[in-house]
Amino acid sequence: MTVLERFSYSGLESYKKCPAQFKFRYIDNIRKPDEGIEAFMGKRVHEALEFLYTEVSSGRLPFIDSVFDHYEKMWNDQWHERIAIAKRGERKEDYFRLGEDCIARFYRNNQPFSDPVEGIELEMDFMLDSDESYRMKGILDRLDHDGQGNYEIHDYKTGKRALNQNQADNDGQLALYQIALEQQRDNVKSVALVWHFVRYGIVVRSKRTTEQLRQLVGSMKKRIDEIRFNEKEGGEFPAKPMILCNWCYYWEECPQKKGSNPFIK
Ligand code: SF4
Repeated sequence: MTVLERFSYSGLESYKKCPAQFKFRYIDNIRKPDEGIEAFMGKRVHEALEFLYTEVSSGRLPFIDSVFDHYEKMWNDQWHERIAIAKRGERKEDYFRLGEDCIARFYRNNQPFSDPVEGIELEMDFMLDSDESYRMKGILDRLDHDGQGNYEIHDYKTGKRALNQNQADNDGQLALYQIALEQQRDNVKSVALVWHFVRYGIVVRSKRTTEQLRQLVGSMKKRIDEIRFNEKEGGEFPAKPMILCNWCYYWEECPQKKGSNPFIK
């Protein structure tokens, strides 16, 4: 299966921001060994929280020290030479400590972790409108279920930007996971969408109506149709320069840029 037969929310969002970047990554399949340190740190924090909840679900409540140990081990095991720090003056150690702070704050705010967790890091493979030609994939950070059909989809964000209520009410990612959940489970009575902005200890909750989900499916299908049309008919995937170019690894391929990205060290 090629990637254009199965889409992810992040892929479709990258198309919206810069179609050229989407094409380099998902159609031309140009893979770069580079990775931003914010993304690297975010993955390690996710692994630490996964470890924490796996321990809890096995009946053990780990001390925070052992969560830190797991984080440090994964950080060292996964570290590689192509991790970029785009911000001048910031160091690897600063990001390591930032990740530790995120874990400590989450631990403090959520102990004793008595949430009814049903799954961690769940891979979702689903269709839009139950149509096989609109297949999507995603990874859900945590799914809670009270056993009575009431679910909560939890997402951990380590980035600088926290969504406000209005932005969360209009965000598509967790809403798509709700669509996946309702497709895969019987008797879903309610679904809450919960974001944990772990840098700040902020939790934002939202819900979606059936009509909102219907509109989201419509807009995602429209974007997929546009991508497929452009790919098939040789249409345009224009480069759209923006601030996020500083974090883009496709400067060599981009018609709007010259040479390699000077912001990536
Ligand atoms: S450098 Fe900027 S304009 Fe070029 S592909 Fe990357 S994000 Fe798009």
